[in-house]
Amino acid sequence: MSGDHVLVCDGVVRRFGGVVALKNVSVAVRRGEIFGLVGPNGSGKTTLVNAVTGFYPPQEGRITLDGTQINGLKPFRIASMGVARTFQNVALFHGMSVLDNILMGRHIFMKPNPLASLLYPWWAQKEEVAHRRHVEEVIDLLQLAPARDEHVDVIPLGLQKRVELARALCAEPRLLVLDEPMAGMNQEEKEYMVRFILDAQEALDLTVLIIEHHMDVVTALCDRVLVLNNGQEIAQGPAREAIADPRVVEAYIGK
Ligand code: ADP
Repeated sequence: MSGDHVLVCDGVVRRFGGVVALKNVSVAVRRGEIFGLVGPNGSGKTTLVNAVTGFYPPQEGRITLDGTQINGLKPFRIASMGVARTFQNVALFHGMSVLDNILMGRHIFMKPNPLASLLYPWWAQKEEVAHRRHVEEVIDLLQLAPARDEHVDVIPLGLQKRVELARALCAEPRLLVLDEPMAGMNQEEKEYMVRFILDAQEALDLTVLIIEHHMDVVTALCDRVLVLNNGQEIAQGPAREAIADPRVVEAYIGK
């Protein structure tokens, strides 16, 4: 497929014992788009994300990132190739501040090189300034400055999810994978999150793969979607059209 696609999944199959969680699923995410994974509970959305991020590699099919095959690689390799992820249940570093959690997103760039730092201190300093600049840009974008010194354990869930998003953005991902970023949020928090994701996408030129089941959020955020049911594609295309497909309506009502 052409260079316009950041992620291509071709004929992906994933089984868990007798359960076929993904049955020949194909999808191609274009550079710069927000692509939604939609479907009732148990339809295979998380399994597809786990296949892409290397947590549960597919048994059949091929997954490429900018043309390079990634299925079969370990999750940390895939992450270091530019796939950043957030989790449905927030996964932050407890006991640490908002700022320290966000800084963890830069660790993939930080290859300790004490000799170079000694010989070329100006180089190390320049690197440090670049890291800081990017972190501050993300903090501004997500309006996290007032909370930067707070402990992540004591802030509300909506804010915790924003910190997790900030950490993922600090990795400057080629592909940002968001697993239900609105889970557990109230209406106001959801609306804020939609705004932050759209602002970040515009400012940082992001390509996003997002699992989302709130249809208002899907239509507000997603350019295109893949709708899964029982591990199979039942619709794919522009968000509004795909979720209005009678097979999609039936799949949701049938649950
Ligand atoms: P969704 O994210 O759409 O709710 P999942 O991808 O979590 O759906 O699940 C799809 C199917 O795969 C379900 O039947 C689920 O029970 C099964 N499944 C997912 N992960 C595992 C696992 N680690 N072990 C066994 N079965 C799994």
